[in-house]
Amino acid sequence: MRRLYVVLGDQLDLESVLDEAFDPAQDALWMAESEEEARRTWSHKARIVYFIAAMRHFREALRQRGMPLHYRQADYATESSSLAALLAADIQRLKPQQVVLMRPGDWHVRETLRAAIEACAAACIEREDPHFMTTPEQFADWAQGRKSLRMEYFYRELRRKHALLIDADGQPEGGRWNFDADNRAAFGADGPGWVPEPETFEPDAITREVIAEIEAHYADHPGSTAHFDWPVTRDQALQALEDFVDQRLASFGHFQDAMWLGQPYLYHSRLSAALNLHLLNPREVIEAALASPARHQSLAAVEGFVRQILGWREYVRGLYWLRMPGWLEENSLQAEQPLPSFYWNGETDMACLADALGQTLKFGYAHHIQRLMVTGLYALLLGVRPHEVHAWYHAVYVDAVEWVELPNTLGMSQFVDGGVLASKPYVASGAYISRMSNACRECRFDPRLAEGESACPITTLYWDFLDRHQARFENHPRMRMQLRNLARKDVSERQRIRAQAQQLRDSV
Ligand SMILES: Cc1cc2nc3c(=O)[nH]c(=O)nc-3n(C[C@H](O)[C@H](O)[C@H](O)COP(=O)(O)OP(=O)(O)OC[C@H]3O[C@@H](n4cnc5c(N)ncnc54)[C@H](O)[C@@H]3O)c2cc1C
Ligand code: SF4
Repeated sequence: MRRLYVVLGDQLDLESVLDEAFDPAQDALWMAESEEEARRTWSHKARIVYFIAAMRHFREALRQRGMPLHYRQADYATESSSLAALLAADIQRLKPQQVVLMRPGDWHVRETLRAAIEACAAACIEREDPHFMTTPEQFADWAQGRKSLRMEYFYRELRRKHALLIDADGQPEGGRWNFDADNRAAFGADGPGWVPEPETFEPDAITREVIAEIEAHYADHPGSTAHFDWPVTRDQALQALEDFVDQRLASFGHFQDAMWLGQPYLYHSRLSAALNLHLLNPREVIEAALASPARHQSLAAVEGFVRQILGWREYVRGLYWLRMPGWLEENSLQAEQPLPSFYWNGETDMACLADALGQTLKFGYAHHIQRLMVTGLYALLLGVRPHEVHAWYHAVYVDAVEWVELPNTLGMSQFVDGGVLASKPYVASGAYISRMSNACRECRFDPRLAEGESACPITTLYWDFLDRHQARFENHPRMRMQLRNLARKDVSERQRIRAQAQQLRDSV
């Protein structure tokens, strides 16, 4: 054999994996289901199902095309093996002269696979992943010498480079780079009303078999597979994209930050996992959004969506490769609390958290504001050890791949880097959740109160957070207002809040 092309579970796009040198007469593809990968993080069962079901459907597509493929299906009878050990065994067996590895989406996986290939004395050819619109090297060039690495400036450069939403005179369409300010609406008191249901996909025979295996072999893992309805093939992913663009994109931007109890998807796309497994290409997703009538109905919606894919998605990946592995060790706020156990079962009296955690365990999904301003916010305010927060987010969402999960969790949500990704910590009191959802109406706590029996734990912890970190943020221009409000509280009130916050920590 001349070359063995490695296809990882989040690289299910043949056009990206193969280069022009691929010759089916002397080369072959290699895929493996690694149990150790599923266990390395205590993955939600639906997350494991998603990866394995998508891989097995991809295997079928490759077989139908007559591609030479070595596929290692999970063998639950023998001891679980790491991806690196499985690859090493097959290199010994197949003896390829070269192993072609497309950059994995996980720092640890990349290191271990490269080491395994080298240990087998095969040449490792590493390719950049053409699925993304920016390479880590291009991002590093952009970041070089900059004092501040804000997403907004990176995004504007990509808009110009790819001529997306740019007028003939080189100016941003609609006269603004960013319609973020138009994208923060809440629903009225009566709620969202009718929202088009997203297209869902009933598990076929292949997926049903995977579900049965996962239920049998990962019974102690969190989450449910009973509601699994995600797109696991390219055709299904394209259907999901078309459905989103036709049905929900026009309202996506406006209600991007809004929440409503029992409504997990609202106007969100549900496309992240399909994108992260490469069933969809970011370019085609952007093109579909730009070609849709929604562009003329609401430029703010379409720009908001393009910003998530072209801006945030590419930006967090660039930062991941720039900052790993050190990012994993940072803890700028010295957070040392354990993660509350209710994150794993959703059992809490806090209505906002119970809802976000409940749907996470049920579907493996929560939208961005639920992740950032409910589950992430509570962990940040409580002061949970970043490692534990990262392990939880990596485990529970069907779209979790480390290059995107880690920057969002550690950088954006937990501020571990002291302001590299986010200019300030995303902190708010219960008043924010009260404004953006109906959760507080259904809760036994009162978002206005920081002390006493009915005090909202988020509000208590918010003031306590500002109190604990006052010295650090007092000269921060974007936190001045919050600290000015804290200064209005007298010494005894602040002491009482501190004591109540401590009780919350002690009860974890
Ligand atoms: C703490 C935390 C952890 C997160 N973990 C993940 C993760 O493991 N995997 C993941 O894909 N996203 C993650 N995100 C980003 C974002 O929340 C999800 O991409 C989004 O909720 C997925 O739902 P959707 O497809 O309906 O997205 P939509 O709201 O419809 O957004 C459209 C698309 O934009 C992209 N996008 C939006 N926001 C971001 C972002 N901040 N970073 C990168 N891409 C973005 C996604 O591809 C998404 O599918 C995380 C965010 C936070 C705050
Ligand atoms: S009162 Fe506090 S805990 Fe209850 S739903 Fe509102 S923000 Fe959440």
